[in-house]
Amino acid sequence: MRYHSTRGNAPVLTFEDAMLTGLARDGGLYVPQSVPQMSYAQIADLAGRPYEEIAFRVMRPFVGDTFSDDEFAEIIAKAYAGFGHDARAPLVQLAPNHFLLELFHGPTLAFKDFAMQLIGQLFEVSLKRRGKKVTIVGATSGDTGSAAIEAFRGLEAVDVFILYPHGRVSEVQRRQMTTPSEANVHALAMEGHFDDCQARLKDMFNDHAFRDEVALAGVNSINWARVLAQVVYYFSAATALGAPHRKVSFTVPTGNFGDIFAGYIARKMGLPIDKLVVATNQNDILHRCLTTGAYRTDQVTPSISPSMDIQVSSNFERVLFDVYDRDGRAIAQLMDELKGGGFDLSQGALERLREIFVSGRASEEETLATMRDMQNRTGETLCPHSAVGVKVAQEDLGVSPMITLATAHPAKFPDAVEAATGARPPLPLWLADLYERSERITEVPNDLAALENLIRERRRA
Ligand SMILES: *Cc1c(COP(=O)(O)O)cnc(C)c1O
Repeated sequence: MRYHSTRGNAPVLTFEDAMLTGLARDGGLYVPQSVPQMSYAQIADLAGRPYEEIAFRVMRPFVGDTFSDDEFAEIIAKAYAGFGHDARAPLVQLAPNHFLLELFHGPTLAFKDFAMQLIGQLFEVSLKRRGKKVTIVGATSGDTGSAAIEAFRGLEAVDVFILYPHGRVSEVQRRQMTTPSEANVHALAMEGHFDDCQARLKDMFNDHAFRDEVALAGVNSINWARVLAQVVYYFSAATALGAPHRKVSFTVPTGNFGDIFAGYIARKMGLPIDKLVVATNQNDILHRCLTTGAYRTDQVTPSISPSMDIQVSSNFERVLFDVYDRDGRAIAQLMDELKGGGFDLSQGALERLREIFVSGRASEEETLATMRDMQNRTGETLCPHSAVGVKVAQEDLGVSPMITLATAHPAKFPDAVEAATGARPPLPLWLADLYERSERITEVPNDLAALENLIRERRRA
């Protein structure tokens, strides 16, 4: 299996190299040359199996010969061993034909753990074998950073630097990043919004001299391996509810379009998904784009679902690459226009997106009302991101079972939950002393040269 850049002007790589690289050298994102198919019988045979076994069967064809079967099975087993639920991604029912997929039972209580725990194991095996070290730099709106630090803390072959927007992540998110004491992890509080953090990260990748000097590696959802890990739970959930014998739909609280893009890949592999519903908060560039065909950036308005406070959805480029018939030059041009504020989709591209994707947005009031309502009707406590999903899903309920992704544990966002329901959700036992642990915070300016210097100084040679 080979991986190509969405901008058509970077080296073609194996799974392992695409994973270790992150962003392509032409600024594009890596995608598989073709999407492996699973037959009706193969999909039917997943039903009822342990999560790890489904993970192996779904991901194996994408990995090629990078790992032996035994190696890959062991990597998967280690990745999910630390989860706080035997099912890994359990389903609960909210209403007739509406289900919640709880993706928050990993060590940092958000769905990011599904990919990050796997990537930690993949990097460990791969770097050891090559005798190499890398510097991982990531940008986070809160959950990617905590998941990355948890996955890579203490590893010999990696130094991790996480840029998060100063003052704009929840206290639990911040503490998960700033309390690990290992010398190889660094939480950097940057002035600005998430989009600024992501922009500086991309600048570092595009500074090829720096990139080579520190052996830069990326674990943001621009990394293909992250998308791949997330494809698995679409299969586990859908087959638990009767696929492939009947279709299911998914609603996905969306920011960077990574999680929902994984659903798109599952659908391309043959999973009978009826609709993929994009749910946004008031930062609704994706909803506006799917409604009007115009992808135009706007100011970010901070919300109670901060992990979705995003105006530039990186992974949208991957689906555009498909609906523009894998024309890298066309994508490079759209991304150039984006620097000037935005672009208009071609009519053909918009129509193809609308065959698969539906979209909706939830205001702050609607999000809080949904949290309150679900608590009263079902006893399920939702985090604000999951509530955005549930609200939008309710507008699209139909004959196919609807599965809404619950992307974080409510205890990660206690202020919003308390505002909605009047009660503060407790942290799981293994995190109960989080508020007592001491923090290490480094404040950094929104400045490329300053960031690069800090990374040069702090990384272990
Ligand atoms: C990251 C995140 C999202 C958005 O996921 P994308 O893959 O960026 O679309 C939604 N909810 C939570 C809790 C998150 O951490």
